[in-house]
Amino acid sequence: MSTKTSAKTPNAIRGTQDIFGADAEAFAFVVETFERVRRLYRFRRVEMPVFEKTEVFARSLGETTDVVSKEMYSFDDRGGESLTLRPEFTAGIARAFLTNGWQQYAPLKVATHGPLFRYERPQKGRYRQFHQIDAEVIGAAEPQADVELLAMADQLLKELGIHDVTLHLNTLGDGASREAWRAALIDYFRAVKDQLSEESQERLEKNPLRILDSKDPRDKAFLPDAPKIDAFLSEEASAFFAAVTSGLDAAGVKWVRAEGLVRGLDYYRHTAFEFIPDEGGVSAAALGSQSTVLAGGRYDGLMESLGGAATPAVGWAAGIERLAMLVGAREEAKADVIVVVEDDAVLTKAFAVLRTLRSNGYSAEMIASGSPRKRFDKASKANPRAILSLGGEGVNSAPVRSSEEDLVNKIADLIYGSGVLHQN
Ligand code: ATP
Ligand code: MG
Repeated sequence: MSTKTSAKTPNAIRGTQDIFGADAEAFAFVVETFERVRRLYRFRRVEMPVFEKTEVFARSLGETTDVVSKEMYSFDDRGGESLTLRPEFTAGIARAFLTNGWQQYAPLKVATHGPLFRYERPQKGRYRQFHQIDAEVIGAAEPQADVELLAMADQLLKELGIHDVTLHLNTLGDGASREAWRAALIDYFRAVKDQLSEESQERLEKNPLRILDSKDPRDKAFLPDAPKIDAFLSEEASAFFAAVTSGLDAAGVKWVRAEGLVRGLDYYRHTAFEFIPDEGGVSAAALGSQSTVLAGGRYDGLMESLGGAATPAVGWAAGIERLAMLVGAREEAKADVIVVVEDDAVLTKAFAVLRTLRSNGYSAEMIASGSPRKRFDKASKANPRAILSLGGEGVNSAPVRSSEEDLVNKIADLIYGSGVLHQN
């Protein structure tokens, strides 16, 4: 391979991001907070493959969904098998539940995070490689699983400092309710078919619930009068929804009813929800038109579409980038200690000092390049909690400068106490 220096550097792939600095800190803060909160709720960590057989997604999500019909990164591998970069977590986790016999752990509470891939039109808050945090409860038919998951989502947002985002909640009913509602929606929209958007005309017979999700003004005109799920809910489905809402009230999770809220994926039953920024709030302004930060619901029908036994389950996912936008840029932390090597003769001592500091939990770095006279100034500019200069006035001299007297004493104790340096 020739690497001529005159050759043009390849661009990054459209819709991918190189996240750095304060944005990367915000991203890490989201992930760390999620890790902490999922432990509080006793969700177990899983690591999932980034790709699966294409049919895992095609069968679980359904061919009529945007994700499967337009957004998947699918390719044949060298063995001729069709594979797809995961566009979401749930289908892969469901596949793993079935292929690994995780039924034995049911009800299984799992959490994960990582990159996902969708061929979408890139814009603010919408990328082709993006990242999600994800939580699922598999093998739990009871509404308390929904309540737990929603309480976890709510606490996560609060701990991220996001207070102007509200849970919008709906029920899609059980299989029978959903079917009856679907039939009524088809009747209703069929009567006005030629006034709907082309996309909705296409969706009409196959996936009429999706029309409720439409942002096209031609469709929106007909949404307020469309049949509502409440008219079709079986007694059991109503009781289920009532148990979810009273559980949320008891857990102190604020919610609003969103009758038009549906999930794009075919396998959803009962609870469907999205956390959406309040109109006029700071978060709404930060996100612009890509408003949903966290979304999910109950997917009791999924396991069967993958050839497994009927298994009730509920879960959610949230875009890390969108959460990071709400968190805002976060400063990279200052070092606890910067070790300035003022004389290269004591460089090896600096390694020992650094090791001692770091093993005792102090973040530390060294400045040992460039003109020795300028190193101290460089350290001052970086504004650490303390500066330790080595070799300025003899090999064993190690003055520590800091406005925190406590810290000065602790550092002195560590480096002299451990015998790394000897006090003059
Ligand atoms: P949207 O209506 O915004 O396309 P969706 O229904 O496709 O969302 P889900 O599949 O439910 O989204 O994904 C859950 C969350 O993942 C979203 O609420 C959002 O925060 C995030 N998300 C989805 N797609 C993208 C993307 N292309 N780029 C960044 N984040 C995304
Ligand atoms: Mg989408």
